[in-house]
Amino acid sequence: MARNWGTLAELAASLIERGKAGRRVVLSPQTAYLIGIKLQTADAKPERDEIALMICRRGQAELCSEPCFECMGRANIVVRAYGQKSPARDDISRQA
Ligand SMILES: [Zn+2]
Repeated sequence: MARNWGTLAELAASLIERGKAGRRVVLSPQTAYLIGIKLQTADAKPERDEIALMICRRGQAELCSEPCFECMGRANIVVRAYGQKSPARDDISRQA
């Protein structure tokens, strides 16, 4: 079966369109494999606190000793960019 999509965005748009229209989708084995891999990793994105730990300069001389409020804020921006909800605002204050 020939591949009839160019980019992942086109493939996604096509799948969404067919799904909305109630139409079946037949995938080539290669496309099914690709979609499976993408779905498997879709939820593997780090949570806010994990991102804050990655970007915080804690442990470096005279910088953050814990994930700081500023880094939590930056981490919130990142998780919002991929659709995760940030924990409640008072959670952030307690951790800062
Ligand atoms: Zn920090």
